[in-house]
Amino acid sequence: MSTKQSMIEQLRDHIVSADVCPDLRAQATQLVMGDGNLDADIVFIGEAPGKNEDIQGLPFVGAAGKFLNEMLASADMKREDVYITNIVKYRPPNNRDPLPEEKKAFWPYLLKQLQIINPKIVVTLGRHSMEYFLPGMLISQIHGEPKRIQFGDHKIVVVPLYHPAAALYNGSLRQTLIDDFCQMPEIIDKL
Ligand code: URA
Repeated sequence: MSTKQSMIEQLRDHIVSADVCPDLRAQATQLVMGDGNLDADIVFIGEAPGKNEDIQGLPFVGAAGKFLNEMLASADMKREDVYITNIVKYRPPNNRDPLPEEKKAFWPYLLKQLQIINPKIVVTLGRHSMEYFLPGMLISQIHGEPKRIQFGDHKIVVVPLYHPAAALYNGSLRQTLIDDFCQMPEIIDKL
């Protein structure tokens, strides 16, 4: 097992033993830590697991995940080349929005997860993960624009995108998200 893999597993065990968000934990099937390549340069961060994710223990495996996979393919990226996770790691009941205190409770663990993976780019999917990296900003105004932020000891680039689930059934948002996604290879090349 790689060092990063064992560090991620330790972090996962720690979230469970620290009993982060016990109410969510009690109602969820399992903790959904993340999926993909721990050496990836790009990490995608969604909101919280949905029903399929809760059952399978993997992020973005339902309808939104299928759309995400299609966009990755159209930007010439494979799911195995990136890492995908969520800010909140248990499914909120009935897929309600994660509460502010739930996001706050999981934020330090997301930071540790990113320190382990050490990506160059963080792509936030939707406002729930964006607001922690780019506080006070509006996704309608900055979607698709790369932003440099100081992250621990180093700088990373954050690209805020709309959430695939929000865009899935909304024609204009869907096209905006696809267009933003198609810019990703260019953003990566410029780094
Ligand atoms: N939506 C998310 O934000 N995350 C998932 O893992 C699935 C759907």
